[in-house]
Amino acid sequence: MLSDLVINISILMSFTFIWHQLFRHNRLTMNSPLKIKLLDGLIAGLLGIILMHYSIQVNEITILDLRHIPVVLVAFFGGFIPTLVSVIVISIGRFLIAYNFSSVVSLFMMFTIAFGASFISLRLRLTPWVKWLTLLVYSQTIFSLALYIVVDNFNEVLDFALYHVISTMVGGTLIYHFVNYIRLNSELYLKYKESSQRDSLTGLFNVRSFDYYYNSILTKTMEMKGDCSICIIDVDHFKQINDTYGHLAGDQVLKQLANLLKSLTREGDVLSRNGGEEFSIILPHCNHEKAKEIAERIRRKVEEEPFYLSGNKQINLTVSVGIAAYYHELEKPYTLFQEADDALYHAKRNGRNIVCSSSRSIRDTHSVILNN
Ligand code: GH3
Ligand code: MG
Ligand code: MG
Repeated sequence: MLSDLVINISILMSFTFIWHQLFRHNRLTMNSPLKIKLLDGLIAGLLGIILMHYSIQVNEITILDLRHIPVVLVAFFGGFIPTLVSVIVISIGRFLIAYNFSSVVSLFMMFTIAFGASFISLRLRLTPWVKWLTLLVYSQTIFSLALYIVVDNFNEVLDFALYHVISTMVGGTLIYHFVNYIRLNSELYLKYKESSQRDSLTGLFNVRSFDYYYNSILTKTMEMKGDCSICIIDVDHFKQINDTYGHLAGDQVLKQLANLLKSLTREGDVLSRNGGEEFSIILPHCNHEKAKEIAERIRRKVEEEPFYLSGNKQINLTVSVGIAAYYHELEKPYTLFQEADDALYHAKRNGRNIVCSSSRSIRDTHSVILNN
C-alpha cells in the first residue's frame, strides 16, 4: 500500500508540474477568462482519470484513489466553473472504467464534492492554508461516506479507509506546498524578466532590449531586403529643467514625454529609453520618407504639448531628432544607429528642435527616386 501512496503522489506532482509549465503565462485564478477555466477543469479531470487508473481495488466494484485532489485544487484557485468541468470529466472516466452501483455513487460523490468545494473556496473567509485543509477534510469525508455506502461491511475495509485518509492528507499537503512553490517561482521569474527588459522610470524598453530588437529587426530586414529606419530623440536643454525645477520635476517630464511618444508610435515599433533624456524608435518596414514624416510629427507634437509639473506648473519642451534608414544595398547595416546619432548631433548643431537625416539616407533616397 505504501508503494501505491508513493505512485499516486508522484503522478500528482509530475502531472501538476507539466500542467503548470503549459499554463505558466495563464495561471488559473478566480478572474481567469472562461476559456482558461474550462481548460484547467478539463486537465484536472484528466488527472483525476489517470489517478483512478492507479487506484486500490477494495472489492470487485470499488476503487479508492486521489481523484478528489485535482478537483479541490481547481476549486481553490479557480472557483466553480473549472471544478464543475473536472467532476464531469472524472465521472465520464469512472463510467468508462465500469458501470455499476459504485460508479453511480461516485457520480453523486463527485458532484457533492464539486458544489461543497466551490462553496468553501468562494464563500468561506479563511487563510489560504486553513481553506486548503478544509477542502481536503471535506472532500475526504464525502469520499469516505461514499465508501461506507458501497461496501457491505465497513469494518472489513477499515484499513483501506484509513489508508485512504492518510493518502489524502499526506498527498494533499505535499501538493499544496509544491503548487505554491512553483507558482511563486514563476511569478518571480516573469516579474524579474519583465523588469530586466524595462526602464524603471518610464516603463519603456531599456538599452538591453533595444540592442536585442535592433539586431533581430535589422537581421530580418537584411534577409528580406526590406525597409527599416531608426529615430533617436533627445530633449533640448533638459539640464536647464533639472537645474530650474529640480530632478524630480525632470523625472515627471520624462514620464510624460514617454507616454506621449508611446501614443505616437505604431504597433510593431520599438520605443526605448536609451538613457538620460534620450529615446529611440526602431521603425520596421519603414523607409526614409515615412520615417521623416513620423519624426517630424513627433517633433511637432512635443513642441505643442504642455508638460505639467507639481503645483500645476506648466512648461514647454522641444526635441531634436536624428534619423537613418536602412537601404538594402548597404553593406554594413549595423552602422545605422551610429548614422542616426550623427544626424542627431547635426540637429543639435543646427539650432535644435529639428529633424535631421543621416547624409547616407538622403543620398540613398535620391538614388532610389532617380532609379525609378
Ligand atoms: P542638449 O540640448 O544639448 O541635449 O542639452 P541637454 O541639457 O539636454 O543635455 P545634457 O547632456 O547637457 O544634459 C542632460 C541632462 O539630463 C543631465 C542629467 O542630469 C539629466 N538626466 C539624465 N538622466 C536623468 C534622469 O533620469 N532624470 C532626470 N531628472 N534627469 C536626468
Ligand atoms: Mg538633451
Ligand atoms: Mg542627451
